[in-house]
Amino acid sequence: MGSFCLYYIKDRNWWDCVPSKGSGWASKSICKVKDEMKEGFELKHWAETGYSIRDGYGWLQGDQPAVRWTHWIWNKFNVPKHSFIAWLAIHDILRLRKRLCRLGICTEETCLLCGSEPETLQHLFFSCRYSKTCMTNICNWIGLNVRVCDIESAWKDWTRGIKDQVKRNFVLAALTALLYHIWLIRNYSYWQKAVIHPGKLYKVIRLEALLSVS
Ligand SMILES: [Zn+2]
Repeated sequence: MGSFCLYYIKDRNWWDCVPSKGSGWASKSICKVKDEMKEGFELKHWAETGYSIRDGYGWLQGDQPAVRWTHWIWNKFNVPKHSFIAWLAIHDILRLRKRLCRLGICTEETCLLCGSEPETLQHLFFSCRYSKTCMTNICNWIGLNVRVCDIESAWKDWTRGIKDQVKRNFVLAALTALLYHIWLIRNYSYWQKAVIHPGKLYKVIRLEALLSVS
């Protein structure tokens, strides 16, 4: 690595350096990153104003549309593993059976919790009678009057009319925990061939939601 730097930088402009054919993988990788970041350094004047990883990452990402659900998914009361599953859900990239069937990976698309409908995102988390029972239990406990919703509107429905920020965060953490545990139970059902009673799930979610604010 040291000889590489001395050889290429000496008497030459670093930004114009091109690795020789005989250069190692590391040397070529460094030059590749340098070429990718060159435009950013020119446009943002980082050489003069100073460079930070945050600035570089932001520039590489480009302008991203703002999403309102970020306050739900990354709510500070959420348990990180709950947030991760909720993030996968809102991007609709969970490996649900209907999708797996379409890809030819799975031959059975029926919901593992109720066995009566194809397992889609909407069904598993919001329309399945098992999930509805869990949701009703949690909502009754918190004092929410939530109707059937979907992944896009759930966090808005659950926090509608709640002004207190702590209670909003608590409600969002409960919703995130609900999605996580439904996913967990769904996977448990697949491997253990058994579905845990919704009453037990309710107790676990209630406990985790309370712990999130303690
Ligand atoms: Zn179902």
